[in-house]
Amino acid sequence: MLRSVILAASRSSRVERLVATAPFSRDVVRRFVAGAQTDDALRATRELVDGGLAVTLDHLGEDTVSPEQATAVRDEYLTLLGRLAEAGLTPAAEVSVKLSALGQAFDEQLAYDNARAICAAAEAAQTTVTLDMEDHTTTDSTLDILAKLRKDYPSTGAVLQAYLRRTESDCRDLATAGSRVRLCKGAYKEPESVAYQSPREVDKSYVRCLNILMSGDGYPMLATHDPRLIAIAEDRARWFDRAPDRFEFQMLYGIRPEEQDRLVGDGYTVRTYVPYGDDWYGYLMRRLAERPANLAFFARALTSRK
Ligand SMILES: Cc1cc2nc3c(=O)[nH]c(=O)nc-3n(C[C@H](O)[C@H](O)[C@H](O)COP(=O)(O)OP(=O)(O)OC[C@H]3O[C@@H](n4cnc5c(N)ncnc54)[C@H](O)[C@@H]3O)c2cc1C
Repeated sequence: MLRSVILAASRSSRVERLVATAPFSRDVVRRFVAGAQTDDALRATRELVDGGLAVTLDHLGEDTVSPEQATAVRDEYLTLLGRLAEAGLTPAAEVSVKLSALGQAFDEQLAYDNARAICAAAEAAQTTVTLDMEDHTTTDSTLDILAKLRKDYPSTGAVLQAYLRRTESDCRDLATAGSRVRLCKGAYKEPESVAYQSPREVDKSYVRCLNILMSGDGYPMLATHDPRLIAIAEDRARWFDRAPDRFEFQMLYGIRPEEQDRLVGDGYTVRTYVPYGDDWYGYLMRRLAERPANLAFFARALTSRK
């Protein structure tokens, strides 16, 4: 219920104005977002990489409505990739890209062209790109674009969401040699017709998908903060004899940092997903919807008004 309310607020421009202009927002945002500028992204990446973590960087921005906006997003990624390479932060750092930010909603070809330019820049910087997955209306289009990109850039990563009923089948299709697949629970509000609704059903689906990916030939990227799922993943790695360099864990910036360090200490690869940029509203609201404790953190910042 609370999740639905917050996810509804994430699409309200009135609530967005209220939150974006509130004095407390800066402190809350800082916990989950590296900062507004490319320099902020580089600083956070350096700190994480020095601490033994891998990184994937997301330039925040969704709902791009014009080709000019889409081109500006592409150019930001090109700049970012150049700066990461210059700073010696690749291949430890890669980038995550939302096709909606590249124009997918109004011109699929444009989104593909922009994503292709980003893949070429990533290859030149000796790193990789992962295509984030958004709401279910975009899944087919995103997987089609992924397949086209992989013809020339086979290391392009996919994201599959365990809450979707179709995902077990998508996991089977994508568990092939060299295929990088991020498995997450899924962050959008989806109808019952396409998605499991109860947390228990979503978790069970996650485990079924994890089994397919960990027993397959690809490179699984297990994106979750859930202690039970992390323990199951560690168990499956032993069961399927998967060495720590043949899969990775992924978690979000600012969430369970001690657990990220614990896994690194145990010899696993852990990649932190680091968002940066001005357009943090939708991202922040999805994080709040996921966990009431995040909402309490937000409320504390609101009352202390630092
Ligand atoms: C690297 C990465 C990339 C992602 N990319 C996408 C994407 O492309 N598309 C998409 O739809 N979604 C994406 N997501 C979001 C994902 O789908 C989930 O919404 C999000 O990760 C929350 O799910 P969870 O697996 O952590 O479990 P949850 O059900 O949110 O949490 C399970 C348990 O984890 C622990 N936990 C969670 N948060 C905290 C916290 N703040 N502090 C302490 N313990 C905590 C608690 O024990 C909690 O009960 C991504 C997530 C990650 C980590």
